Amino acid sequence: MEVYLAQPRGFCAGVVRAIEIVERALEKFGPPVYVRHEIVHNKYVVESLKNKGAIFVEDLSEVPPHAVTVFSAHGVARSVEEEAASRGLPVLNATCPLVTKVHNQGKRYMSKGRALILIGHAGHPEVEGTMGQVPGPVLLVQNVDDVAALTLPADTPVAYITQTTLSVDDTKDIIAALQQRFTDIQGPDIRDICYATQNRQSAVRDLSKLVDVILVVGAANSSNSNRLREIGTEAGVASYLIADGSALNPEWLKDARTVGITAGASAPEVLVDDVIEALRRIGPVKVSVLPGREENIEFRLPAELAAG
Ligand code: SF4
Repeated sequence: MEVYLAQPRGFCAGVVRAIEIVERALEKFGPPVYVRHEIVHNKYVVESLKNKGAIFVEDLSEVPPHAVTVFSAHGVARSVEEEAASRGLPVLNATCPLVTKVHNQGKRYMSKGRALILIGHAGHPEVEGTMGQVPGPVLLVQNVDDVAALTLPADTPVAYITQTTLSVDDTKDIIAALQQRFTDIQGPDIRDICYATQNRQSAVRDLSKLVDVILVVGAANSSNSNRLREIGTEAGVASYLIADGSALNPEWLKDARTVGITAGASAPEVLVDDVIEALRRIGPVKVSVLPGREENIEFRLPAELAAG
C-alpha cells in the first residue's frame, strides 16, 4: 500500500505555544497547574499533560484559591478574565495570538459604531470567547441561510470577523452573501486569516488528487480536523477522522491502493506514526511525504515564562 503524508499537517504554532505554556508552568511553579478547558482539542495531548500534573476544568469555580491557571488556546470571554482577576488567580494566557487578533478586530469595528457579525460555529469555545470579548452584541452566522435571516436594515454599517479554524474557502460564500445583503460592510484583510488552517486545507486538497482514501488524524471535537475530513469528502475521496491507530477500520481500505494521511492542527505527529503502524499491521506500506508549503511561524511565550 502506498501512503502519502500531507504537508503541512498537525501542530500549528498556536498549539505548540499553548502546550509549551502548560509544560513550562509545570516546571516553573510545580504541579498542579489548572487549565480551563482542554488546552487544545486532543485527548492524547490532554492526557500527557494530566500525567505531568495539569488539572483540566471547565469552570474557574473548580480552581482553588491562588492556583496557577492557564486559559486554553481557544481564548476566553472577558467575564472569565474578570472572574480570575477578582479571585486573584495567577493566570497564564495561552490564547493563540491569531485568536487575540480576531478579538481586537471585533473591538475595533465595534468602536467605529458598526454592527458586528461573527462567522463561526455556535458553541465552539473560540466563538464563545470572541463573543464575550467584544463589548456589545455579536450576530453569529453559521451559513448563508443565517445571513438571509438577519433582520438588520440593508444600509446598517456592519463588519464581519471569522472563527480562525475556518479558511478563506470556507467563508467565501457567507461573505459574498453578506456583501450582497449590506451596502456598507467591512471585513478583515484576506492576509489576516489563520495561515495554518489555510495551509492544512490546501494540502488535503492536493492529497485528494492522489489517493483512494484519506485518514484525518484528529479528535472528534476538533473543528479544524472535521473540516479537513469534509474537504476530502467534498473532493470525492472517502475520508475518515480517526483519533489514533486503534480506530482504524480495515474495511475502509479494502479497495484502496493509495492512502493519504493528514492531521488536524491539534494532533501530534506521534498519532500519525501510530496510524502508520496500524496500516503496517494490515500489509506492507511505503510512506512518502508530499511536497507542500513550509511553515516557520513561531509565537512568543508570555513574558513570565519566556525568561525561565
Ligand atoms: S489553528 Fe491557527 S488560530 Fe488556531 S491555534 Fe493554530 S495558529 Fe492559532
